[in-house]
Amino acid sequence: MNGDLELLLKLQSIDYDLGELERSKEYIPDMMENLQREIKDSDAKLQEVTGALSTDRLEKKDAELQLQEKQEKLKVLQDRMMAIKTNKEYDALVSEIDQIKESISDLETRTLELMGEIEKYEKELDDLKAQTASITDINSGQLKSLQEQIDSVGSKILSKEKDRLDLVSKVNKRVIATYDRIRKGKGGAAVVAVKKRACGACYKALPPQRIQEIKLGERIITCDSCGRMLIWTDVSNK
Ligand SMILES: [Zn+2]
Repeated sequence: MNGDLELLLKLQSIDYDLGELERSKEYIPDMMENLQREIKDSDAKLQEVTGALSTDRLEKKDAELQLQEKQEKLKVLQDRMMAIKTNKEYDALVSEIDQIKESISDLETRTLELMGEIEKYEKELDDLKAQTASITDINSGQLKSLQEQIDSVGSKILSKEKDRLDLVSKVNKRVIATYDRIRKGKGGAAVVAVKKRACGACYKALPPQRIQEIKLGERIITCDSCGRMLIWTDVSNK
């Protein structure tokens, strides 16, 4: 293969890496933000359930105290029944006892409800604690590695740019100019392999004589249709 083409392929690989490194400056911070948000969301959910559990526990304690008071009051009223003298007194006391019994029943229902909720929250909290610990552990590891990647992007770019300059100095200036022009104009690859007897980028069929020339690789052949430089590689025979 033409020496310049071989060097251009190396250059193209460096340019691809440089493009990826530039892109990583965008997507690594995005990935980090997502990982941090996952930790934050899981932690917020944990706090929310912890709060709800604590509220329910307080309400249950309060309901139990009220229940105890009402039961004591009921006992006092029932004792008073023994000493009743008039029908009027009797009716008033019965009504008062009924009211107390009703509120006792309400408090018992609410206490049962709260016990159910508390049990549910306790279970949920166990799961959330495990989940948050696992997310924090996994995401922290990934965040650390992404941070290392982002910290080293600058030096990796500098090193690739140095490699690029070394290569460029070895290639014919006119060829480099063509390469740069195609890359800028088309984006992506400027040197493409022939595939199925056609240009590997735009799929324009190539006449047999063209293919022979490309196979020989003595000079740089460009595609009539898209202008990219064509090479013959292992994939070209398939
Ligand atoms: Zn083409």
